[in-house]
Amino acid sequence: MINKTLISLLGATGSVGKSVLAVLNDNPDLYRLFAVSAYSRVEQLFSICEKYHPVFAVVHNESQASWLQHQCIERQLRTEVLVGPEGLCTVARDSAVQVVVSGIVGVAGLPSTMAAAKAGKRILLANKEALVVAGDLLLKTVKEHGAELLPVDSEHSAIFQVMPPNFQVGVCPPEVRKIILTASGGPFRNWTLEQMKNVTPHQACQHPTWSMGPKISVACATLMNKGLELIEGCWLFGLSPNQVDVLIHPQSIIHSMVEMIDGSVLAQMGPSNMQIPIAHCLGYPNRIPSGAKPLDWHSVHSLTFEPVDESRFPALQQARAAFLVGQGMPCVLNAANEIAIEAFLSKRISFLEMTALTETLLAKNWPIAQSSLEGLLALDQEVRQVAEEYLSVSSD
Ligand code: NAD
Ligand code: MG
Repeated sequence: MINKTLISLLGATGSVGKSVLAVLNDNPDLYRLFAVSAYSRVEQLFSICEKYHPVFAVVHNESQASWLQHQCIERQLRTEVLVGPEGLCTVARDSAVQVVVSGIVGVAGLPSTMAAAKAGKRILLANKEALVVAGDLLLKTVKEHGAELLPVDSEHSAIFQVMPPNFQVGVCPPEVRKIILTASGGPFRNWTLEQMKNVTPHQACQHPTWSMGPKISVACATLMNKGLELIEGCWLFGLSPNQVDVLIHPQSIIHSMVEMIDGSVLAQMGPSNMQIPIAHCLGYPNRIPSGAKPLDWHSVHSLTFEPVDESRFPALQQARAAFLVGQGMPCVLNAANEIAIEAFLSKRISFLEMTALTETLLAKNWPIAQSSLEGLLALDQEVRQVAEEYLSVSSD
């Protein structure tokens, strides 16, 4: 019998978490869940515990923990319940674990991702915010501790899959000229600014080609997700922002491309299903089944491409500029964006006010000379506080 690879799945109840579970269901002989985590959907986490019998389950607070522990004991499950960010870091660094899935949304996923890097794990990185906020630190930590960082984000997985075989994370191979990130364009691709004024959270969460959590869905609609992915791409592939093009490709079949110095362009294609990049990371360097339904080429009538209209979607330029300033500036952008999206989802600000808020906050003076995890998390908190002040003043 082969030893199964033990996995800590952080963010098990989310959209990425569900896709990971689907891939595991297709490969029952290869993987076993060591730990799972949830923030609010504790009942859903309990169902996952009943099905997969993890050694640990991590929840957000003590009352959730005592409820879940009680349920587990009642069902005679030996799952031990841990709490909060410390619990997440504990299961990310446990010596029994080989793979950590960083599937938490937002900067909340950064400390456990760092803990996994310090413990030399294979990290399946869905949490792009970790790279946006602390790209330099995370890559250095990965290198120093012999960890492995594999991109789950479909665009970066596509690029990773077509990179030359000598590729090392963070270093652009000499034969690569640039990368081309594709974007669906979101639900408002063809809308005028006037039309976008009154967009509702429900409309913004209706992504045309992917099914995802609310935060990333809204970020896709403003194209800030593509801005965060531009920064993610710069770190993962060792590029400057002028080596990262963004192209609207509404069919979401080509997940991204790499242009070589000889002019050749390599692309990765497939259905819009996160099980595919997840299976790629789990099996790497081999391939395993993902459980995804293959693409039906008879239903693909055309692959089209168009440029991004940055006057309607200013987020991309904000991300490029933040990356070029460097240090803590992408952290400022990320915190401002997280607050803006929460405020939009709770109907405190309108759709267009999201990128207006990030623009205003980026223009302020921040103590961006931060390189430690603590310093970056403190900057994140400071931006959130100031953003809240802006929001309460504008709602007066
Ligand atoms: P989601 O909202 O569906 O799930 C988020 C998960 O994180 C849940 O399990 C939730 O319990 C947990 N969580 C939320 N806040 C937390 C906190 N403060 N502390 C601890 N846990 C917390 O989100 P998602 O769509 O699965 O996205 C997860 C990450 O993957 C994001 O960074 C997103 O950008 C990235 N990503 C997602 C997709 C996708 O298809 N959904 C694709 C590419 C990248
Ligand atoms: Mg993506």
